[in-house]
Amino acid sequence: VPESADAVLHGLDPEQREVALALTGPVCVLAGAGTGKTRALTHRIAYGVRTGRYKPGTVLAVTFTQRAAGEMRGRLRELGAHGVQARTFHSAALRQLQFFWPKVVQAEPPRLVERKIQLVVQAAEACGLRLDRAELREVTGDIEWAKATQTVPDDFAEAAAAAGRTTSREALETARVYAQYEALKRASGRIDFEDVLLLTIAILQDREDIAQQVRSQYRHFTVDEYQDVSPLQQRLLDLWLGERDDVCVVGDASQTIYSFTGATPEHLLGFPARHPGATVVRLVRDYRSTPQIVHLANNLLSHATGPAARQRLELVAQRPPGPVPESTEYADEVAEAEDVAHRIRALVAEGVPAAHIAVLFRTNGQSNLYEQALGDAGVPYRLRGAEAFFDRPEIRSALSAVRAAAHSGANDTALDLDAPLPAQLRRVLVSHRLWTAQPPAGSGAVRERWESLAALVRLAEELARARPGAALTDLAAELADRQANQHAPTVDGVTLASLHAAKGLEWDAVFLVGLAEGMLPITYAQTEEQVEEERRLFYVGITRARSRLHLSWSLSRTPGGWGGRKPSRFLDALRTPGSARPASDAPRLRTGRAPATNGERHTPDRGAGERPVPRRRAPARCRVCGRTLTEAGEMKLMRCETCPSDM
Ligand code: ATP
Ligand code: MG
Repeated sequence: VPESADAVLHGLDPEQREVALALTGPVCVLAGAGTGKTRALTHRIAYGVRTGRYKPGTVLAVTFTQRAAGEMRGRLRELGAHGVQARTFHSAALRQLQFFWPKVVQAEPPRLVERKIQLVVQAAEACGLRLDRAELREVTGDIEWAKATQTVPDDFAEAAAAAGRTTSREALETARVYAQYEALKRASGRIDFEDVLLLTIAILQDREDIAQQVRSQYRHFTVDEYQDVSPLQQRLLDLWLGERDDVCVVGDASQTIYSFTGATPEHLLGFPARHPGATVVRLVRDYRSTPQIVHLANNLLSHATGPAARQRLELVAQRPPGPVPESTEYADEVAEAEDVAHRIRALVAEGVPAAHIAVLFRTNGQSNLYEQALGDAGVPYRLRGAEAFFDRPEIRSALSAVRAAAHSGANDTALDLDAPLPAQLRRVLVSHRLWTAQPPAGSGAVRERWESLAALVRLAEELARARPGAALTDLAAELADRQANQHAPTVDGVTLASLHAAKGLEWDAVFLVGLAEGMLPITYAQTEEQVEEERRLFYVGITRARSRLHLSWSLSRTPGGWGGRKPSRFLDALRTPGSARPASDAPRLRTGRAPATNGERHTPDRGAGERPVPRRRAPARCRVCGRTLTEAGEMKLMRCETCPSDM
């Protein structure tokens, strides 16, 4: 914890410091990825708390994902600012809803729908429809979109057609399923994710007394990732604020990737106009990524069109150069997943912690192959978007086992609670059949469960180191505190995440996979606007990487398949800046092609059985000066013979 409030300002650049010092009134930070928006925001809150200008309980910091909220709480604690509420719009709204519901309807608060997909299946069956997996996903997505944009079933067909989402026949069917879904949900007395916002808004709108109560509790608001605020979330924020305008928003219009919830960057870009006199700060220094990665990101965006693109500022890299970003073309998706897993295993063997590596893809359906391949390679992984740590069934069981053991204490001789704490914990877990000393072989849910329990064991080890002699009761207390603050321990493992779930986060090494036409941009992105959103998704992906970036795609789905896929059009944009620039400024991206596997599974050192892959890549260029290479020797080195190897 920094000794003084002023020390909180250390480690901020002058523009970030301006944000931290503007403790009241509207503040807006417009800046690209990795420029320290989240950091400036977090330090601003900590500075306000440390100087006594903010009472911790009066700050509501809104983040985009649960994980981002957890990271912000951890960071605030490190900066000596405890007790600040860092939550997503949904979790903040849910808390308020649960609190005020009994007052409004004199009843227990409704429970959340646990398995939305199942409810959609039931609704479809009630309409006489049988949906396959893809249709189910689509219909569920349509219902979510409809609710987020406040489109009722009767208006769905027209609105969906206007938004270019579905054909009219499909839209009519979806509208029927949607109406049925709402009816079934109401009959079961449950609410879904979208209802949480809708109901909270309704209560705050109708009940001035309740709105006043919320406003007297929360006085200072911050919103991270503000470019993706949906109309409903904006409405909620306005209700929280009332007449006041003590709100600090930060965002990057080039990272708007949630337009399917009705989000538009207009809220962000229009903020200064809506709040005359607002402090507006722009940041351009990129502290996250190596210059090579920043360069690719700048190139990609230099081709972007639309309102966000016009306001864009070039990122200026601050970090020293790192490894050359690489791109690899594979014959098929299996070969791609296996080689990526193989590369990851090599990184882990080099000492890069698995938790600092991510595989990012466009659609969640792509994760299966990587779960399989990483499992085969013996590399632990975790799926992002999985339930919050303390809600996982195995963690719940472990917590109650720990509490029970701590409670019965030394009376329970069978458990022998005198050896060190980590061993005690292991024994408790083993006695409840939750734990095995070695990780289970293979991949899948079993391994994921083991990894989350391993995080508990590591926590016990940390506690024992910090407080020698700590007992199970201490561990139980620590866990209760963490659970109350939703401060999950780090689960080891490579992150597997969709690009949407990866926003705001960063890893040392990022593998962006499946970069083929039809996947990114995804097939249904047809209009220019939709394709631009796909480009922004790619930008989000690239800018998650701190040091290593590997881009890959494959020419067919299955081994021995058709092979007619094309690499993503965005790959060309990486190599060439949109505006004319000197050749010396050419991007540096080492391209390679992995041998095909001929359908064989796992051949780490391939060679035999290679199948020629059609050449579809841009010409090889020198990774130092960018000149197109023709000599075989130069192409192997990926640089001109005259250029120095050291960049
Ligand atoms: P994104 O748009 O992806 O959300 P961001 O603008 O919020 O990015 P941060 O996550 O706040 O960026 O910062 C990116 C990385 O740079 C973090 O690791 C952060 O700690 C580091 N960083 C930010 N500002 C500074 C600084 N002034 N000095 C050193 N490191 C910094
Ligand atoms: Mg951020």
